[in-house]
Amino acid sequence: MTVIEQHANKASASAAAPTGDFDDAVNATVAYECENCGTNPLERFEVPRQTTLWKCTKCGLYQKGQPPTDRLYEDEYHDGYLRSLPRKIRTAQVRLGRAVKYLPEHCKSPSVLDVGCSIGATVSAAARRGWDAHGVDVSRSAVDSCRIRGLNCVHYGGDRLPFADKTFDILTSWHVIEHVENVSTVLDDWYRVLKPGGIMVLETPHANCWKARTQGAKYAKFWPAAHIYTFTPDTLEPFAARCGFEVLPNPWFAAPTSTGLATTTYALAYQAFLATSRATGFAKAFQLFARRPATDASERKQAA
Ligand SMILES: [Zn+2]
Repeated sequence: MTVIEQHANKASASAAAPTGDFDDAVNATVAYECENCGTNPLERFEVPRQTTLWKCTKCGLYQKGQPPTDRLYEDEYHDGYLRSLPRKIRTAQVRLGRAVKYLPEHCKSPSVLDVGCSIGATVSAAARRGWDAHGVDVSRSAVDSCRIRGLNCVHYGGDRLPFADKTFDILTSWHVIEHVENVSTVLDDWYRVLKPGGIMVLETPHANCWKARTQGAKYAKFWPAAHIYTFTPDTLEPFAARCGFEVLPNPWFAAPTSTGLATTTYALAYQAFLATSRATGFAKAFQLFARRPATDASERKQAA
């Protein structure tokens, strides 16, 4: 069975539609519970001719979109990205610097995994530092393009990461978590591959950004069919906490992982923009920083 077929099967069997059929899901007077806070029922949120999500009236989580097939993430999805690779690598250097800020002092050469690595900007930035850098992506063409450039990237169907427990010091994932079929299962797996003390950094669209708040479903490009969830910090952080992560504050400033005037200036500008857009509520996306604690909750209980 091809990956596309596997995903098509998954889509039709997805928990997003309790009766197993897309039309049934759209027409249902929905009786499912919020995956975050358990509130029932959820409110239908329709973006005409594009997608239907279900919004929790209590916590505000948008959820239960329909998973697309892999075809969407093949060639066209990554095409435009290659042209902007140098800029993306520069951004990745700043982003990695923000994760490194939370690592223990002794961890000078972290192992890094970027989930949804696309054309490999984060993997490149980490590899240029001489770090052990890996990427996974659902798109085979994206993975091929990384491999041609000598990067350690493998295909990943979105289920279980092909790595042993406690492998990485840093796990990053940019605009992926809103695409997954079950956020709790995925975060459990990401926790698994992080070493104790390891840092996870995610970025995802912000459901309460100014334009989404004021225009709702009319801001159609904010609500693509591929998004199964749309979060706010308040609706994503509890998922991470339930998986065992310690949620950390967004750092205001961190030095980039490579030096030079241009990179440092860019790091200042990038983080000033992040801070300003966050403070004013205009940020279309937000970042989640979280740590796998040095000991798991179960180990702490045993020790007590
Ligand atoms: Zn809720």
